[in-house]
Amino acid sequence: MTIRPLNIDPTHCFIANEWVPALSGQTLALKNPSDGTTLCDIARGNAADIDRAVAAADAALEGAWGELAAFERGRILHRIGELVLENIDELTTLESMDVGKPVKQARADVVALARYMEFYAGAVDKIHGATIPFLEGYTVYTMREPHGVTGHIIPWNYPMQIIGRSVGAALAMGNAAVLKPAEEACLTALAFAEICRQAGLPDGALNVVSGLGAEAGAALTAHPFVHHISFTGSVGVGKLIQSTSAQNAVPVTLELGGKSPQLVFDDADLDAALPFLVNAGIQNAGQTCSASSRILVQRGVYNDVVARMAKRYGELRVGPAGDDLDVGPLVSLRQKEIVEGFLARGADLNKVAVGAVAPDAPIGGAYVPPTLFADVDPNHELAQQEIFGPVQVVIPFDTEEDAVKIANGTDFGLVASIWSKDGARQMRLAKRLRAGQVFINNYGAGGGVELPFGGVGLSGHGREKGFEALYGFSTLKTVAAHHG
Ligand code: ADP
Repeated sequence: MTIRPLNIDPTHCFIANEWVPALSGQTLALKNPSDGTTLCDIARGNAADIDRAVAAADAALEGAWGELAAFERGRILHRIGELVLENIDELTTLESMDVGKPVKQARADVVALARYMEFYAGAVDKIHGATIPFLEGYTVYTMREPHGVTGHIIPWNYPMQIIGRSVGAALAMGNAAVLKPAEEACLTALAFAEICRQAGLPDGALNVVSGLGAEAGAALTAHPFVHHISFTGSVGVGKLIQSTSAQNAVPVTLELGGKSPQLVFDDADLDAALPFLVNAGIQNAGQTCSASSRILVQRGVYNDVVARMAKRYGELRVGPAGDDLDVGPLVSLRQKEIVEGFLARGADLNKVAVGAVAPDAPIGGAYVPPTLFADVDPNHELAQQEIFGPVQVVIPFDTEEDAVKIANGTDFGLVASIWSKDGARQMRLAKRLRAGQVFINNYGAGGGVELPFGGVGLSGHGREKGFEALYGFSTLKTVAAHHG
């Protein structure tokens, strides 16, 4: 397979602006989750390829990339954003096929990737240091500098969006990046690399090595010349990466998902809330870090909300990504098995609605019907663990105090939302909810390129997106000059 019109051979890695096979010559099969067939082979990069990529990044920092002024880096990012949009059809098709995303959702991800490039292109020359009043005879100031070589390990659920928020911010601050995309979905990462090359990104500023987590990913995390790691993925691998990075005392940004609640109070505008309540759970087949998998509803409107959500579930259409229905397949048969395990362990719960998979959906696809449970005990596994599938639980509550207790009662803390017209309650809860982002009378707010994002607890630490990411992808130097 050749990725057209970008003309890329996906069995190659991208190192120093060149397409090269993995040194081992090995490849891995990339599956199409809509029907289980093999889409193409990708390079199985390992420690030797990571070594080459890190060396190329190092050389970029010492060479043309390191010499660019902030506004010049911004111009290149802007051009990358333009080329992303010029290639929107190609990128949409790749992401949709590779991840199993309905076409509309994949297209929105391309636009988000372009928006990240535009945002960071415009922001990069507006990052200032400070002057600090100090002792007589001194001038003290701070300046922001790149970490150096940054390692980016990303998952398969939103490759383009996560590349945008992490690689975009890292390049903006002048780091040189090594990207290890997920073995389940990496075609848009490769396409993005080619776009960067065509946009004039200097050699080695971005390098992409595909391969397995335990090989290429582990080698990148442990590499002594990598100065910052950003990781989005599972809690288990996140903990492993943090402990590996600790060996080199390297800072890490971890975004590990969540069990994000929406709190619906008796005075909520239910017509406004309903689309968000369901969409935030089933978008990308529920394989979203910030998915809202817990819906907490006050008793006065509880039955009404459950009935409305159940009705919507009954209308959901599930089928191949290319058919562009509400829900596509999960990314892999392995993921389907994990989600089915949760559903089996929830067999005794009150299952109020199950969406229908199209009868002609290919047998080999990773389809799981969206499933809604009501009256779920907040301590049940399905209300505590991240499922990463199209499964939501509805939990009743009586008072505001109960709602906060249930909302904060998991190990995660990524996103939360409050549906209520009471302004004082909105402010109280926005403070009390344990989450990196709180939305009031909305959920997700237009993708949130500009909005700092990240979690607390097992959801991880560090902030991506918005200006905040630029601080995370740089380090602060303080200069104290004594001049008498
Ligand atoms: P999931 O279980 O949802 O597939 P993972 O956390 O396993 O999520 O994967 C997310 C990313 O982390 C992928 O790019 C994967 O290759 C990578 N990865 C998996 N294991 C490791 C590891 N031991 N070290 C570094 N990266 C890893």
